[in-house]
Amino acid sequence: MSPGWQGVPPDQPSAAGGGGGVVPPDQHSATALADELIGGLRAFAIPMRTRFRGITVREGALLPGPAGWGEFSPFPEYGPAECARWLACAMEAATAGWPDPVRDRVAVNVTVPAVPPARAHALVAASGCATAKVKVADAADGGPAASLPADIARVEAVRDALGPAGRIRVDANGGWDVPAAERALRALGRFGLEYAEQPCPDLASLAELRTRVDVPLAADESIRRASDPLAVRAAGAADIVVLKAQPLGGVRAALRVAEACGLPVVVSSAIETSAGLAAGVALAAALPELPYACGLATMSLLTGDVTADPLAPLAGALPVRRPPVDPQRLAAFEADPGPWRARARAAARFLGHR
Ligand SMILES: [Mg+2]
Repeated sequence: MSPGWQGVPPDQPSAAGGGGGVVPPDQHSATALADELIGGLRAFAIPMRTRFRGITVREGALLPGPAGWGEFSPFPEYGPAECARWLACAMEAATAGWPDPVRDRVAVNVTVPAVPPARAHALVAASGCATAKVKVADAADGGPAASLPADIARVEAVRDALGPAGRIRVDANGGWDVPAAERALRALGRFGLEYAEQPCPDLASLAELRTRVDVPLAADESIRRASDPLAVRAAGAADIVVLKAQPLGGVRAALRVAEACGLPVVVSSAIETSAGLAAGVALAAALPELPYACGLATMSLLTGDVTADPLAPLAGALPVRRPPVDPQRLAAFEADPGPWRARARAAARFLGHR
């Protein structure tokens, strides 16, 4: 807890009813609460093991509050209105904590980047996971048009490593158009796919593809705000939605989105420290149904963590827990808090503007 902490009761009253919100009902008090939390903000910069989304260092901030530390780590290109949802997630973690879990472990997938088959096989075999997410249509294989032979070889190696009972999903990150996706999913389907994540970039092409292939489709990049899953469903664009706690405004907000959407949910991370991952784990742990492994085994993408006890998978699952932030570990990755305070304050002006 920061020395400047003025005190907010651990259980904030519900903002809008329905299970307890974290943002107070009016803009003024939301901003005042954010201001208090931002006073104790600490910033971090942790080098990544591999480049992701064009970044090599994961930067963000942690906000201390009576319930613990909340992570605020929107990606660099996001403006204040979008960052407000990420800030709401951090404020929920810092002031209210999360709803009670209905399970004590969350199955997770190993992620296989665009690597040669032997490397893919080794990654999966070493992971202990029963589910693998395989990147396809990747620039490392010559891009969406050229990558199919490499994608086939990689998925075949992963099936070999997992055995017949393992589950495989592919993630194209929106890289295919409809004909390329249809061709690829027909070719890859023989290895048994549980679903294809964001095969095409937009809802119209996803909906078109869905009428042409039997493999279930999941929407990931198509979902960046609370209204998007409903749009996905209305468009008939996907069978499954990938939800992340920070972009949706926190665990309670994401639970409301999941309930309103009605499609099966896969919880994924935004490549956070264990402080941020804990919100994703809390979301996965509180969902009434969790039929698929989650994309929360991402701590290993970072070279360090802000806790002595990182959220790392054991036998293909994460325990449902919230590791305490270790000030010394945080200090090892400490960055200038000034820009992050400014960013959080700018975001705070949009709290409640979902
Ligand atoms: Mg994805």
